This record gives sequence, C-alpha cells and structure tokens, in this order.
Amino acid sequence: MSQRARSDELSALTDIAAQVNCTQDLDEILAGALETTLNVIGEESGEIFLLDQDTGNLILHTHRGVSPAFVAEESIIPLGACLCGQAVATRQLLATTDLENDPLRTRGACLRERFSTCVRLPLMARGRALGLLAVQSRARHAITQADRELLMAIGNQIGIAIANAQLIKDAEQRRATLHSVMNSLVDGLILINRHDRVTYMNPCAEEILALPASTIVGQKLDDLHYQIASQAADPEIKLEQLRLAATCHEEAASVEIALTEPDGRTLQARFFPIRHAGEQSFGLGLILRDVTREREVDEMKSRLLATVSHELRTPLASIKGFATTLLRRDVQWDEASRRDFLSIIDEESDRLSELIGNLLDMSRIEAGELAVEPEPIDLIPLLRETAATLAPLSNNHHLQLELADPLPLVLADARRTRQVLRNLIENAIKYSPEGGSVRVTARADRDRVQVSVADEGIGIEPDQLDRIFDRFYQIDSASTRRVGGTGLGLPISLAIVQAQGGTIWADSQPGAGATFHFTVPRATASPAVAE
Ligand code: ADP
Repeated sequence: MSQRARSDELSALTDIAAQVNCTQDLDEILAGALETTLNVIGEESGEIFLLDQDTGNLILHTHRGVSPAFVAEESIIPLGACLCGQAVATRQLLATTDLENDPLRTRGACLRERFSTCVRLPLMARGRALGLLAVQSRARHAITQADRELLMAIGNQIGIAIANAQLIKDAEQRRATLHSVMNSLVDGLILINRHDRVTYMNPCAEEILALPASTIVGQKLDDLHYQIASQAADPEIKLEQLRLAATCHEEAASVEIALTEPDGRTLQARFFPIRHAGEQSFGLGLILRDVTREREVDEMKSRLLATVSHELRTPLASIKGFATTLLRRDVQWDEASRRDFLSIIDEESDRLSELIGNLLDMSRIEAGELAVEPEPIDLIPLLRETAATLAPLSNNHHLQLELADPLPLVLADARRTRQVLRNLIENAIKYSPEGGSVRVTARADRDRVQVSVADEGIGIEPDQLDRIFDRFYQIDSASTRRVGGTGLGLPISLAIVQAQGGTIWADSQPGAGATFHFTVPRATASPAVAE
C-alpha cells in the first residue's frame, strides 16, 4: 500500500464519521465509506458484505472495481469458507499478499480476478460481527501495521453505521407491527396522552363511532367525551368517572353506552392506564367494544324464557283442566265427551313434547351435536304424508302440493326433513291468520332438489328476512306476537338443512305472503334434469 500523510488518514476517517452521523441511508454510507477507504488505502477494488444473522451468510452489499462475473459469484458467501468467511468467523483482520499460493483460504472468484494482495476485516459493533470489509489488488505488496490500524478505525465507523441502521430498522419494524396490531383489533382503541389529548384512534373505533380519526386525533378527551355523549341515548354517560378510576389505577370498570347514532349500537367502554414496566402511567387507552349482538342475544334469551314458560303453561293448564274434569266423581261423562277430553289431552301433550323436543334440539345445536343421518330417500311420499297430517290443522287454509313427479332420490334424514317441512307448513298456517292457500312445491335441478312452502299471509319485511333464522328471533310485531311461538323453529330448520348440505332462505312481499325454500342434495348428481 502507498505511503500516506497522517492528515489524509484523519481526513478519510472524518469523512466517514461525518457521513455516518449525517446520513440515514445505509447504502449511501457504505458506498461512500468504501470509496473513501480505497482512495486512502490505495487498493484497486473492494466490497462490503453484511452478515445475515439468520442464515449466517455474508451478503454482498456494495462493491467497487470488480467485474460483474465476480459480483455474481461472490454475492453470497458462507461463513468460514474462505478468507472472508474466516475473518468474520474468527473476528480478526486477515491479510495475504500471495493469494495464488494460499489456495485453502481463497475461492475461485478471487483467483480468476488474479488478486494477490487481500485484506479482510470483520465489521463489528458492541462485540457482534455485522459484516465484512474486503479490499484487494492484483499487485503484490506489503500490508503495514499503519494500514491495519487505519482499516480497523474505518471498520469501527462502518460497524457503528450498520448497527445504527439495524436499530432503526428494528424499531421501525416493531412500530409497524404494533401499528398493524392496533389497526387490526376487532375492538375500538383510542389512545390519550398524559395531557388528555387523543393521539390515536384505530379503524374499528372510527367504524363503531362513525367518526373519522381526523376529527378526533389531536382533540382533548373532553371533546371525544362530548362527541360520544351526543350520539348516546342517555347523554349522562359515565366516561369521566371511568377515566378517573383508570387514572387512579383502580380496578378497571366498564360502562355500557347505548348509542342512538349511527345505528343504535350498544358499546362497552373501558379505560386502562398505559405504563412501561414499573413506571408511572403516561397516558390512557380507551377500549370500545360493540356488544350490540351480545345484548340482543341476552334479550332474546330472556324473552325465550318468558315465551317458553308461557307456551308450557298453556297446554299444561289444558291437560290439568281436562284430567281433573274427567276425574270428577260427581259427574258421569258420556263416551263422546270422554273421547273429546282425552283427545284434547293427547293433542296438548303432543304440543308439550314438541316444545321440549325443540328446546332439546336447540341445546344440541348450541353444543354442535345435532345429528343427522342422511340416506337416499324419495321426497314425494314424505312431502305427501307430512302435508296430509298437517291439513287438518286448519279449515281456513287450502294446502296444495305441486310436485315434479318423479323426483330424483335425495340424501337426507327423513325424520329431520319432515321436521323442517312441518315447521314451515305450520308457520305458513300460523302467519296467515286470514287463511288462504299454502302451496308446497318441489323441483329438481342438476345436483339438488328444492322444496318451497308459500303462503298468502302477513309476510316478512325485507330487513327481517335473514334475522328470522337467528336463534330465538321473533319479529316483534303485534300480528306475530298474537300467535305465540318460541322463535326456535327456523334456527332448528336452518341447522338441519345445513347439516344435510343444503341451504334455506325466505322471500316475501310484506302483506302478501312469504315463501320459504330449502334444498336437499341429490343422492347422485345428474348432468341434465328436466325442471
Ligand atoms: P316461531 O314461529 O315459533 O316464533 P320460528 O323460528 O318458526 O319461530 O319463526 C321465527 C319468526 O319468523 C316468527 O316469529 C315470525 O315472526 C317469522 N315467520 C316465520 N314464518 C313466517 C311466515 N310464513 N310468514 C311470516 N312470518 C314468518
């Protein structure tokens, strides 16, 4: 290497240090440092590699003065394989002035470039190897102690630059991960700093409150409080007490807020203090959970309890009444009356057992244990028999069957399919109090048979069409309330149809009747079937 003035060395080191301090971009720092190193040390070419901590390979990052073939060959170097790998593995500066005669320590690429003098310096920071600085020349010349010291000083600067860049990258990655986690939360999250200003609001909170983050972030907590209160059914929301409790590290309590805007949701709000391990709280988080569905289910369950008690009491009262009447010793009933009373007891017992059966089915569904045993069956006799047993239910209704006969065999559980059909026909009769026709139709298509039950009754509003299949759901209108029921029939039908691999849905013209359809898979699919 050439003789240098001490001032050149200092100015090279100062240049590299300045770049490390001022530049954020690691590529730029490494390219500049390599150029400065080659200029001051007087070697022909050089490379900087970064150590991939996962694979343990050196990855070529920056190079000067080497051929494209060399770059391609040396882009990834395994540790320990050559002078480069050995320098990093041993964490020592390694040098040779006679590479051709040092075959154990070289790789083909360096020989092909005809390098003779090579210096390999591990780039370290805080005791960890982070990469490698390689410089080399074709000319053979000595590497002085001064060269080594200068290279090591330069290596230290580059090591610091790499460590800083990795720290920044790690911090950015952690920040991005945290941000993605907060943004992906299924609960609303709002962060408030110690000066009571909102610093962050996640997309779920925006959606729950129907407020864009831009209108909330930067505002005082009081403004957020005001915004929420202005949407609440009861403006006296207890957020302030909650906040105080959280600030004083009291046990986290929550309040429920019923919103009138945007769509009448119920929110559960809970504050929590944000602190680093052992440190004082430096802000607050506010979690907003949409508990609308849970509250609706709670409400439906209490309604179900009331309805079921009512529905149980009615047949029980009847059974008890007629049994007591029959048992009276002071009255002699003629045979016809006795039969009438007994048949009422019989029917009411059936009602009771159907209701209990439905409750048991529902609990099986909730436990995921509803069993169906599909086998190939012909739907025609099943539809005819079920309709025939239900026809006597009402004198007011005309039950019609329109079946494409013959129908292909379907894969279904006969008892369960009968249960679905009975439920749909009973509903059709129940919800058409003025009477009219109830039409049961069945037709086959390529891989399923579709059964439909149409009535001319009160019909269903479009926004209720999906909800009627929810557990315990009943449309809360005077006309449906009047006829009783438990809201169990349709969710049970849905579970049965789905367990058989079919679908169930309804369409309706409110006031002009409803049609319920369900499908059952064919036992064997057919390429062409007449509708
Ligand atoms: P239930 O009839 O015992 O209340 P279902 O689950 O069978 O329970 O039905 C749920 C709700 O769907 C009923 O309460 C009723 O409001 C509505 N519904 C069902 N069938 C019909 C129909 N054919 N016409 C109008 N409304 C219906």
